Amino acid sequence: MKDRSPSFPPGKAAIFNGHGKPFEWITRPVPFIKPGEILVKTRYTTLCGSDIHTYCGRRMEPPHVVLGHEIVGDILWIDPAHSGKDFRGQPIAVGDRITWSIFSVPADITPPRPDMPQKSSSLFKYGHVLADGEDLFNGGLADYCILRANTALIRIAESIPLKVAATISCAHSTVMGGLRVAGDIAGKKVLVFGAGLLGLSCLAMCKEAGAVQTGIVDPDPGRLHWGEKFGATSAFTFPEATAPAAPIPGTTLATAPLPWPEADIVFDMTGNPQAMKMGVDSLAIGGCAVWIGAVYPAPPVQVDAQMIVRKLLQIRGLHNYNYQDFVNATSFIENNYRKYPFESLVEKEYPLDDIEAAFTFASNSKPVRVGIKI
Ligand SMILES: [Zn+2]
Repeated sequence: MKDRSPSFPPGKAAIFNGHGKPFEWITRPVPFIKPGEILVKTRYTTLCGSDIHTYCGRRMEPPHVVLGHEIVGDILWIDPAHSGKDFRGQPIAVGDRITWSIFSVPADITPPRPDMPQKSSSLFKYGHVLADGEDLFNGGLADYCILRANTALIRIAESIPLKVAATISCAHSTVMGGLRVAGDIAGKKVLVFGAGLLGLSCLAMCKEAGAVQTGIVDPDPGRLHWGEKFGATSAFTFPEATAPAAPIPGTTLATAPLPWPEADIVFDMTGNPQAMKMGVDSLAIGGCAVWIGAVYPAPPVQVDAQMIVRKLLQIRGLHNYNYQDFVNATSFIENNYRKYPFESLVEKEYPLDDIEAAFTFASNSKPVRVGIKI
């Protein structure tokens, strides 16, 4: 075998062994880089909501896993069997900053539909697989990440703050998938449930896509003040939906009781059955509800079938994203990271060594995002 990867210093990884157990540290040499793979020096990882759910025991992952899938890093080594180009066809080289898709579809696997690669069988997902033997550098909470062959990666400018670049590969790409599923946004009235990173990203994307009204709904008035900065035209507390809305501290947005009058499109980022029901109840004739947040076990949503039929409504689900969503989300961030204060949504950052404290803060204080410098 020619062109063996040069030697790099050993790297360490924070291993999550299950809810309530301390992180385990493993330091290991960089393994042999296989054909078509790329070795990345991880620079920054943000803790996604699903990482927090896993940490808190609300969501199951393999029993021995390197969490973190909102990752950004710099290329250290490109195996000669790689095409040497990113997903947009641009040449890549050692030292380039890249973002990459959360999943990789093995070459011999055909997706169930061309627009649904994220639902392929035998899918590999960064930050979600067993850290086993040599296969340690496969999540964001480690010094390195080895990109499998067939991972969609995109070269990005170093001028994009690491805090923002890290969030492209889950939050923003997922939201972009939600907009695709919702259809044309231009001229529409939109309501977004959940003022976390997905909800705020959704507001900004809808505004850029030409929405005429954008409402944000969250039970936490402390989060709603972000809405205005990301393009919201109104804000609503929840679940005090039918009571007259109290003024929301820190924002000049108009507030009004729910249900929102006649939303054309409702996005749910919460996974809360009550919120999803209220979203559907808020739809105008011909409206569409896009459910994104329901990625953990919860009671069923009570849906009035007669209302769905008579109002010609749609309910659509979106899990992860496809390649075009990833490309579009990257372009969206490239074009808008200066326009909207995405960087300030990473409310606190920690070094990797303090990962325990980072998860404790993230689960107790519920910031929009916690960042991990690596
Ligand atoms: Zn995520």
